[in-house]
Amino acid sequence: MLDKRDFYINGAWVAPQDGTDLEVIDPSTEDPCAVISLGGQADTDAAVAAARAALEGWMHTDPRERLAVVQRILEVYQARSEDMAQAISLEMGAPIDMARASQAAAGEGHTRAFIDAFEKVAFIAPLGDHAPEDRIIKEAVGVCALITPWNWPMNQVSLKVIPALLAGCTMVLKPSEIAPLSSVIWSEILDAAGVPSGVYNMVNGDGAGVGTQLSRHPDVDMVSFTGSTRAGIAISRNAAETLKRVHLELGGKGANIIFADADEQAVQRGARHCFNNTGQSCNAPTRMLVERSYYDRAVEIAAETAERTAVGPASESGRHIGPLVSAAQFDKVQDLIQKGIDEGARLVAGGLGRPEGFNRGYFVRPTVFADVSNDMTIAREEIFGPVLSIIPFEGEDEALRIANDTPYGLTNYVQSGDGARRNRMARRLRAGMVEMNGKSRGAGSPFGGMKQSGNGREGGVWGIEDFLEVKAVSGWSNEHD
Ligand code: NAD
Repeated sequence: MLDKRDFYINGAWVAPQDGTDLEVIDPSTEDPCAVISLGGQADTDAAVAAARAALEGWMHTDPRERLAVVQRILEVYQARSEDMAQAISLEMGAPIDMARASQAAAGEGHTRAFIDAFEKVAFIAPLGDHAPEDRIIKEAVGVCALITPWNWPMNQVSLKVIPALLAGCTMVLKPSEIAPLSSVIWSEILDAAGVPSGVYNMVNGDGAGVGTQLSRHPDVDMVSFTGSTRAGIAISRNAAETLKRVHLELGGKGANIIFADADEQAVQRGARHCFNNTGQSCNAPTRMLVERSYYDRAVEIAAETAERTAVGPASESGRHIGPLVSAAQFDKVQDLIQKGIDEGARLVAGGLGRPEGFNRGYFVRPTVFADVSNDMTIAREEIFGPVLSIIPFEGEDEALRIANDTPYGLTNYVQSGDGARRNRMARRLRAGMVEMNGKSRGAGSPFGGMKQSGNGREGGVWGIEDFLEVKAVSGWSNEHD
């Protein structure tokens, strides 16, 4: 079993001062595969103190020096990409090919996109010709606590650490205690890339411990959090006492609106997208809204897609989906499938229990419910499993009403051959992102939500600016620009 108890503080691997052991479970086998330590107050304080001490030096470096450090991180990351894919696959159950092509690759892709976006950030700029001695300076927010979930571990870690570094912030990363192994490798990568001591620190811990300690810490200036809406509320409360800036990327209940004039692949593509990563994505299109005239055919295609979706162990090569991440997640998904049945939705594929041939591992059956109404629990709650709910609609207005009738507002999807209609829908959907006709958003596009899906934007220029303060200066000497 791997021993990953140490934390990365002030440029060195150190033993916990106040830790308790936690086993990391391989979700394909239910066996422990590693042991980490959950830190306590003394560990949190040491990491925050290191970040605070490093802040003054790092934030006033030439931004190009910070860019050079990030370019080195990218090189080391590429060299360690196989280690990264193996770690993610083991800790959270992503099938190895998918872990390589999507999970580990996300860290590299985001780092590259931030390097490109960096050129567009104006760290100092004139206010305008009417005020020639004014400057607008953008400077680091300060010491940041970065708290991340387990479902896309390197996606989320890179979306926070890289822009924080470029902005000149110093930081303490607390990755998910359920999937901490990838962040241990990430810390090794940053160490090898020569990030100066104290600028980046990593402490493992849980929400009640290190997560809460960081959110309350008087020496932390900002918390950037990705995870559940429940934890986002707790963090906001805890951060309020010291008026920290709180940046939240929370859950979702995406609608995928399929009109009868959509392309032939739309339903299959939507169902596959919902099942990808075993349904454990905040932007999963979990409510499929289908125009009435195409509804019966769409239900058939979605059910066939679920039946053809293979399930298998994370270590095996292939295009199957893996297990859910944990026993808690398995129980939650089973409960919600049962609720769907109890509340009268029509089960057309999958259902309760493990798929045939499995008696161990947190494997679940790709599941489709038809005749779902938007007030059922399965249409309202984020399930975080491969469970699709299909809801019929008649006309654009009804589709918009159902799609927007949710506390969430992360990603919505539209499928239609009518360009004017797509654009109308994109304008009226209350969500941070709208993806249409299967076109994914480009590199550097901002990721984030509205309503209870959060308030931050990650990626590209917006992602860097979220870690910057705006300072307005007058009386600037143009001779010393
Ligand atoms: P979670 O909220 O339980 O945990 C996320 C992280 O927060 C973990 O590191 C955890 O230890 C920590 N945490 C938990 N409670 C805390 C508290 N009270 N104070 C401080 N830290 C706390 O979420 P999860 O189960 O790991 O991840 C799944 C959730 O993440 C889903 O709701 C999903 O939609 C969401 N998510 C959102 C996005 C996005 O960008 N919008 C991306 C991925 C996942």
